Amino acid sequence: MQQSIQSTLGVSPIDRHAEIRQNQSELNSIRSSEQSEFLIWIKGRILFDRPDSLFFSYQQVSALATKLPEPIYLGKNFEKHFFAYQLFELPEAYTESNLTDLRSISLIADEEELGLLFHSQGLFNWHRNHKYCAACGCKTEIGNAGHSRKCQNEECNKDHFPRIDPAVIFTISDNSQNKDRLLLARQAAWDEGRYSVIAGFVEPGESLENAVIRETYEEVGLKLKSASYVASQPWPFPSSMMVGFEAVTDTNEITLIDNELEHAMWISADEMIEEIESGKLKLPFSVSISWHLIDRWFHQQTGRSLATVTPKDEI
Ligand SMILES: [Zn+2]
Repeated sequence: MQQSIQSTLGVSPIDRHAEIRQNQSELNSIRSSEQSEFLIWIKGRILFDRPDSLFFSYQQVSALATKLPEPIYLGKNFEKHFFAYQLFELPEAYTESNLTDLRSISLIADEEELGLLFHSQGLFNWHRNHKYCAACGCKTEIGNAGHSRKCQNEECNKDHFPRIDPAVIFTISDNSQNKDRLLLARQAAWDEGRYSVIAGFVEPGESLENAVIRETYEEVGLKLKSASYVASQPWPFPSSMMVGFEAVTDTNEITLIDNELEHAMWISADEMIEEIESGKLKLPFSVSISWHLIDRWFHQQTGRSLATVTPKDEI
């Protein structure tokens, strides 16, 4: 049986409830109710009040500042509704120790929280860089409960919607001699011993499958035998949508053609265990789709999860 892919991959428990985004009076009434919970972003980091909760009540939020900016409505889960605010200064009652970054919080957040964090981070990243109309250069204002911006020039009046940059990310396995090896690669800027799978942005006019084939050839000089879709993951660093594939090749000579990678190598499941346990090999952090894709391959080879393999000195 294949292992399922969890966390921000696949289907979120949050109903985005998009039909009320333009109903300001209903949004106002929901926002001030006890059923509403609020995420607070400050300069790309999350504010938390207690170590066990990321959310603020309406009462707490109202006390943070005399004038709050327009919030983003994120959706609901059963009776609970979720909003996110972006503040530009730390409220007086808090210190830097009440702030955490998305990568750190992702490691301990549950599925509901992760979906809300990625949703709000992606939107705030987009708002930050789209204050002016791309068509006429005039100011734009937030609309649609945070899911669009409108040009304030009456002659233009263009609506702008959040953009997402699709990227493919994929495992390549080599079955040229029934060896069952996986290709891992690293960029020069990564910390020592860190390896991952290959990824790259999709170009205009290109299918996802063609992007997998092109990136594979450009980065490691291999021709693919097949590539099939596995899962997707929003990746708001700053606005990517990672589309995960698994690909198979029956050629195995690696050539770093575009020099984006520092090194690439084939590795068997047994070698992977040995290298991780000895501390020589570090994989991507476990929330990322890259880790899940590697874990999926590893599980197919060994019947166990990569989460059970840790450096010996950490056991
Ligand atoms: Zn305009």
